[in-house]
Amino acid sequence: MRSETAQASEDAVRALQLEKLRGGLRQVLKSNPFWRGRLHDVTGWDDFERLPMTAKAELLADQAANAPFGTNLTFPLEDYTRLHQTSGSSGDQPLRWLDTHQSWAWWLHIWADHVYQAAGVTPADRVFFAFSFGPFIGFWSAFGGAERLGAMAISGGAMTTEQRIRNLRDVGATVLLATPTYALRMADKAQELHLDLASSDIRLTIHAGEPGASIPSTRSAIEAAYMAVSFDHTGMTELGPTGHSCTQRDGIHLIESEFIFEVVDTKGRPALEGELVATNLGRWGSPLFRYRTGDHVSLSREQCSCGSSFVKVVGGIRGRVDDMFTVRGVNLYPSQVEDIVRRHSAVREFVLERRAVKHMDEVVLVVEMAEADAPTDRLEADLRQALGVRISCRVVPVGTLPPGELKAKRIVNAP
Ligand SMILES: [Zn+2]
Repeated sequence: MRSETAQASEDAVRALQLEKLRGGLRQVLKSNPFWRGRLHDVTGWDDFERLPMTAKAELLADQAANAPFGTNLTFPLEDYTRLHQTSGSSGDQPLRWLDTHQSWAWWLHIWADHVYQAAGVTPADRVFFAFSFGPFIGFWSAFGGAERLGAMAISGGAMTTEQRIRNLRDVGATVLLATPTYALRMADKAQELHLDLASSDIRLTIHAGEPGASIPSTRSAIEAAYMAVSFDHTGMTELGPTGHSCTQRDGIHLIESEFIFEVVDTKGRPALEGELVATNLGRWGSPLFRYRTGDHVSLSREQCSCGSSFVKVVGGIRGRVDDMFTVRGVNLYPSQVEDIVRRHSAVREFVLERRAVKHMDEVVLVVEMAEADAPTDRLEADLRQALGVRISCRVVPVGTLPPGELKAKRIVNAP
C-alpha cells in the first residue's frame, strides 16, 4: 500500500522533473542541431509524452555522418572539457560522448550524493578502483565522485590482478569498485596466492557493468570472499549514473530527481515490465530525451522500507532486451542462469552459447571448471528445477573464456 506521504513525494518529484526538463529543453531547442528538428517545447506531461523515443542506432548514425562528435551538442565545442566513449561491447561502433564542466559536475554529484550515499560510503573511506582507466566513462566518474565525497580515491589502473590485490591490502582500502565478475576473479587469484581478502579492510563493494550484485548467489559469493556488504549500481555512458541498490537488497532505485524514467512494452506502449526508457535532467551539453536503454526491467512503486521514495527496479536489471533467449517456449535471461551457476563453487566462469535451430534457440551452458572431467549432472538438475527447462552443460578448462574486467558477455552466438 502506498501512503499519502509517498504519493505527495511522488508528486513533488514529478513537479521537479518537469521544471528541470522545461529549463534545459529551452536551451536545447535554441542551439542543439541534433534535437532541434526532433523535439518541441514542453509545458506539461502530455507534451512530454508526444516527444519521440530515441535509440542508440540514431546516435551512431549521427556520429558517423558528422564525425567525430556528432551533432548532439548544445554549446560550442570549446565549452566541452571531457571526451569519453562507450566500450563497444555490444558489437556496435564505440559511441563518443562529450561533457561540459557543468555536466561533469552533475555526474559527480549523482555519484557522491546518491550512489555512494546509498551504500554508506563516507569521507573516511579509502575507495579502490579495480579498473583499467581506459576511455570508458564509468571508471572516471566513479573515481571523481569518490573524490567529491571527500573519500580517498585510489586508482587500480595498469595493474595485474595480483598487484591490485596486494595494493588494496597494503593501503588499507575499505571500499572496492569492480565488475562482479572481476571481483570474483580477484577472489580466486587471492586464494591461489594464499592472500586472504576476507581479512582485508574492505567493508563495502560496489558493482556495475553486469547485473551480478543484484543476483543473490553472485552477491553472496562476493560478500563471503571479502567479508563485505555488496551494492549494485546502474549507469550508461549515454545517460549518466541512473540507479543504485539499497539496504533492502531486492532491487535498484532509479534516481528520479535527475532523470525521467518510463517503461515500454515491445510495441512501445507504457508498461510496468519491459524496456527502460530514460531522459536525463542535468547533462544539457549532450542530453538524451526518451532514450531506449535496451535494458529489460520490472518496476514497483511500493514504498521501500529503506526510506527512498524513488521507483524500484525489482531484482535489478534483468538483462539486455537482446539477451533474452527462449527454450521450449520459456523466456529466460542470462541473469537467471547465473543465479543457479554461482551456487556451484566449482564453476569459475561461464557463458551461454546460443544457436538458432529451425527458429528455436538451442542453448548450451559452457562452464570453466578446475577439473576438466568434473561432473555437471547436479548443475544441470538444478537448472532444470529452477528454470523448468533442460540446458546442457559443456566443461572447458579454466582460462578458456575471455576474462571480464569491463563487462562479461553472458550470451554469445555459437561459432
Ligand atoms: Zn530501498
